[in-house]
Amino acid sequence: MYDYYIVGGGPAGVALAHYLTKNGFRVKLFEGRKDVGEKPCGGGVPPQIQGYLPVPNKAILNVIKSMKVTYEFNELGVWESGQTLFYMIDRRTYLREYLSDFDYEMGKFVKLSKEGAIIDSKRIGKEKVLIAVGALWRINERDMVANTVQYVISNVKVDDPQQLEFIFFKDLIGYAWIFPLSEKIVKVGIGGLNKNVDELEEMLKLVIKRKGFGIGKIVKRDGAPIDMGGLKVEWASEPYPVGEAIGAVMPLTGEGIRPSIMTAKALSEALSNGKYGYAELLTKLPIYKASKNQRKILKEIQKKGEVPFPGKLSDKSIMLLYKFGLGEAKLRDFLSIIPSSLSMIKLLFK
Ligand SMILES: Cc1cc2nc3c(=O)[nH]c(=O)nc-3n(C[C@H](O)[C@H](O)[C@H](O)COP(=O)(O)OP(=O)(O)OC[C@H]3O[C@@H](n4cnc5c(N)ncnc54)[C@H](O)[C@@H]3O)c2cc1C
Repeated sequence: MYDYYIVGGGPAGVALAHYLTKNGFRVKLFEGRKDVGEKPCGGGVPPQIQGYLPVPNKAILNVIKSMKVTYEFNELGVWESGQTLFYMIDRRTYLREYLSDFDYEMGKFVKLSKEGAIIDSKRIGKEKVLIAVGALWRINERDMVANTVQYVISNVKVDDPQQLEFIFFKDLIGYAWIFPLSEKIVKVGIGGLNKNVDELEEMLKLVIKRKGFGIGKIVKRDGAPIDMGGLKVEWASEPYPVGEAIGAVMPLTGEGIRPSIMTAKALSEALSNGKYGYAELLTKLPIYKASKNQRKILKEIQKKGEVPFPGKLSDKSIMLLYKFGLGEAKLRDFLSIIPSSLSMIKLLFK
């Protein structure tokens, strides 16, 4: 009765269901948890997401306009951008906005294989199953999966609620983040390729202490594996994966919500027009090249085993980092920081 069965109710699955329904297909989405969007996540999205699957105002918890970068707790620089850099969103409220478009079932964990799915004891062939289950899909075939731990802490004093902070450490192939949700609530997390969850949590506790958030109340502790290995176009065959299931996460930043939605749009177009295949449309995505380049840089850092000290960063350098992270940096952006931050350029293109 359905044209497609979508398994997974994260940003990729919901976006895919939305786009396919708009294109006239009958789809049903299955989510193993009680609700959509519940997988642990920082919930930071750039405003460019509004051009794909718009975030309604009620799902925006906070607006970030400034970025601070530190290394071993030494401040390298701050960029007061004067513009929206990220929305901090409530993923569940965001994705629920689109549920009225199509049929779905929550609390339904679907058994999947490369041959398709089993739903209510019925075998569904791989040509009708669309995989949106995140990093768990083919997890053993992924070569750059990072661990993460994240706390939500309330009753703290946030110096600048519109500023997020990225904290780098020499021996962590990853970073810690501080995402303010309000003047009194922060999300503090850490992720890395070369540490286990216990080691990361020790580092996170140090971050919390150094930032003075120890006085607060931990209202949530979570974490999940995240695939930093980049887009896997070679996986674009039936059963088609979307989102993090096909590696749609920016390797240097771990930003995956917007890239996941981009892949959902590509798959929906491929299934609808029959003109271009999914793999071909993935290579046309604005994040495709950036994902490849970022993976190369991350591999290089991984090989060296430490994050190089970049020196002080001008606001233009942090702006470049922001754009580079999103996969939007142009040659003129690089030229604009010469000669103030040659070390930054060297770092990105070693
Ligand atoms: C700690 C952390 C912080 C992050 N912070 C950010 C951030 O700030 N910004 C950003 O853009 N990205 C961030 N990411 C990455 C982002 O969360 C993911 O890339 C994004 O959620 C991927 O979306 P998805 O829909 O592909 O998969 P997911 O969001 O993982 O959704 C997959 C869904 O499928 C369900 N599922 C799994 N297996 C089955 C099954 N067999 N049957 C039914 N349902 C199933 C899961 O319950 C889940 O809801 C973060 C990730 C982590 C771990």
